[in-house]
Amino acid sequence: MFTPLRGRSVIVTGSSKGIGRGIALRFGLAGCKLLIVSRKLEEAKAVAAEIVAAGGEARAFVADVTSQADMEAMALAAIDGFGTIDILCANAGIFPAAKLGAMTAADFDSVIGTNLKGTFLAVSACLPAMKAKKAGRIILTSSITGPVTGYPGWSHYGASKAGQLGFMRTAAIELAPFGITVNAVLPGNIATEGLAGLGEEYVRQMEASVPMRRLGSVTDIANAALFFASDEAAYITGQSLVIDGGQILPESLAALES
Ligand code: NAP
Repeated sequence: MFTPLRGRSVIVTGSSKGIGRGIALRFGLAGCKLLIVSRKLEEAKAVAAEIVAAGGEARAFVADVTSQADMEAMALAAIDGFGTIDILCANAGIFPAAKLGAMTAADFDSVIGTNLKGTFLAVSACLPAMKAKKAGRIILTSSITGPVTGYPGWSHYGASKAGQLGFMRTAAIELAPFGITVNAVLPGNIATEGLAGLGEEYVRQMEASVPMRRLGSVTDIANAALFFASDEAAYITGQSLVIDGGQILPESLAALES
């Protein structure tokens, strides 16, 4: 039985939809206080309202993870609203596709700026509060794409997601003396608004390439984030957990089909 997380203060970046929304709803169910962060107020408010309607506590906050000032304001909003920051889920991310040759420097900067620099800015903003109380949990949403696999069109995305893990390993060493852990979830293909935007053919092919023959749910990822945030995971830091229905396991089509 895990120690209840009731009353913990949690920031989830990119929680207006998709995996971030799933993480926020799951922590809400666990009795945590949620700061729902995205660039769109109405969408963030709708998720906060869902959590409140289910008996939880949540506030919406508009911020862009590419802005240092926004991330610092986000951390202050959590402290003002909930007194502290116990848990940061650095989840906001984008995955536009562009193959090499067509990919522009601006495309590259945009993906790295949101997914990798955005992670750095969100973490940096929350550190003073976590260091002051010598406790904290940081959970990054990385991906199998980059750290483990590749996919045409996503060289910039893969670099950003692998970069998050490089960032995580040194951050975990630096922050361990402060009682702060840093871990990452590596989703496979998860049914979200963003993934649906890649088209039906992409979704169909992905379902066929997963041994469990289905996409993951946002709750599958949220449960792993909840584990990393738990008191029971206190001695786990700098680690990554693949949640992909076995997608990275088959070494060939024959292995998948037989
Ligand atoms: P999604 O459905 O498109 O949701 C993305 C979320 O991030 C939204 O809430 C969006 O809100 C927010 N966001 C994007 N850019 C932002 C910015 N600059 N500042 C603040 N918020 C921002 O995507 P998803 O599928 O849930 O993906 C979420 C995370 O999981 C990403 O890091 C992604 O790389 C990772 N991931 C997803 C999958 C998958 O299969 N879905 C697999 C592996 C990894 P606004 O647009 O309102 O700002």
